[in-house]
Amino acid sequence: MGEQLKIACGVFGAINFQKQPIFPHIYWGLRAQNHRGHQSHGFLTYNNGKFHVQRSLDLVPKIKTNALQQWFGRLPGHIGIGNVRYTTSGKTDEKSLIKGTQPVTASKNGFKLAVSFNGNVVNTFQLKKEISKEFPRFSYECDADLICHKLLIELTKGKDLASAVKTCMQEIEGAFSVAGITKEGKFFAFKDPCGIRPLCAGHSEDLSIYAFSSETVGQDINGFERDFELEPGELVTVSKDGFDREKIVKSERRAFCAFEFAYFARPDSRFDKKYVYEIREEFGKNLVRENPDIVKDADMILSLPETGDDAALGVHEESGLKWERASRRHRYVTERAFILLNGERYSTIDKKINILTSKVKGKQVIVTDDSIVRGDTTKVIVKKLRKMGAEKVYVFITFPRIIGPCFYGIDMATYGQLIGSKHDPKEITKIIGADAVCYQSIEDFIKATGFSRDQLCLGCITGKYPTLLAQKIADEMKKRFLEGCEEKGRLYEMVEAVEKT
Ligand code: SF4
Repeated sequence: MGEQLKIACGVFGAINFQKQPIFPHIYWGLRAQNHRGHQSHGFLTYNNGKFHVQRSLDLVPKIKTNALQQWFGRLPGHIGIGNVRYTTSGKTDEKSLIKGTQPVTASKNGFKLAVSFNGNVVNTFQLKKEISKEFPRFSYECDADLICHKLLIELTKGKDLASAVKTCMQEIEGAFSVAGITKEGKFFAFKDPCGIRPLCAGHSEDLSIYAFSSETVGQDINGFERDFELEPGELVTVSKDGFDREKIVKSERRAFCAFEFAYFARPDSRFDKKYVYEIREEFGKNLVRENPDIVKDADMILSLPETGDDAALGVHEESGLKWERASRRHRYVTERAFILLNGERYSTIDKKINILTSKVKGKQVIVTDDSIVRGDTTKVIVKKLRKMGAEKVYVFITFPRIIGPCFYGIDMATYGQLIGSKHDPKEITKIIGADAVCYQSIEDFIKATGFSRDQLCLGCITGKYPTLLAQKIADEMKKRFLEGCEEKGRLYEMVEAVEKT
């Protein structure tokens, strides 16, 4: 199997029934969600049966006023979808990144389709085989290609959109939140039967524009009102009268990604009624309640910006300890620590965060952060604090200990790379060089989200995955890992091996 690209993404799509250009809304919807993917981005608009596409690397760009007309000219039409993305494995050269950038399109026998997707397909091997039969020159660049082609195959069989989506929901395993446009200008969105990744619907005040967005911030920035979060297994189409919701597949359970709350989502987004920042504050309060002796011993709180900030406020409110803003992020160094290559990690976190020495010297410090994946970042921060004279360093982590990989679009692909799969918190404390590493308990974490246990995916922290093939692959990977087998390549090579059995 060749090298492949796996992605985590942000989706935005909208339709304007007054037939005004949709591009500005897609643009702002994506800019608000650039944290969900910053390696590449793409826009696609629909005009008179034609798709117009623009894909580029890096962040969604600033557009100068004198270039506006060019953009409108390149992306005409009143319907559009867009995507921001980062690769989590495979080739990262410029050509490959561009090829794997969404939105993607597919066409056959007069049918044509465009989709923007967030998630990760698990049964890629089986789907690629099926698609290659229908499209002998099919070239897989990202999972969106699989979704788009599979949906198109079903449409070319004469099925209507709902039946075609239903087959996709039944035959594709994984996480998929999708916004799409057909050749006829039908604008739609759907979510996998577990509803793993977010996707919400919203509308403009005058009811002329309807939109889908991974996070509510995409609606907010456009001044739209958020209507609802798509249900698992739901297809939503849009007409002048608004959204038409249809539960296509009965889902056994909802399994919304728990990691969205701790790390991935913007704090000013909401997936239910509560803002993510309120939930993160509650995480901080929980950590105080769970660790009274450490809190008693500490002098101050220091957060790792920015995902540790809201939890730090919670720690402060619950404990009364001073929260020193003694750790600052360099605004234009935007790389996320755990998605970088091994060699890069140490230097990048060092360049990204600056700590004010005088504030931590001689102090017993509680550091709040969202998660520990490999442990490298935390190790560097603890070392830095010690070097600056901190007497004790206690690490408060809001996401419970990550013990297994993610199969649904977050870059945690093997057991070997996860410090929490090999070590308990005491051992991790030692490896990281802290005085204590305290993870929030799973029970408190769940309670703070406002979701129930059976509404969340907790796969990477419990080892129990919401879909069958993922569970099978996880069990096999774990078995091989515990037997000391080398974890060759990445998760996706294992997927092929297990799918074949
Ligand atoms: S395995 Fe973890 S990161 Fe992946 S979807 Fe489930 S909760 Fe989210």
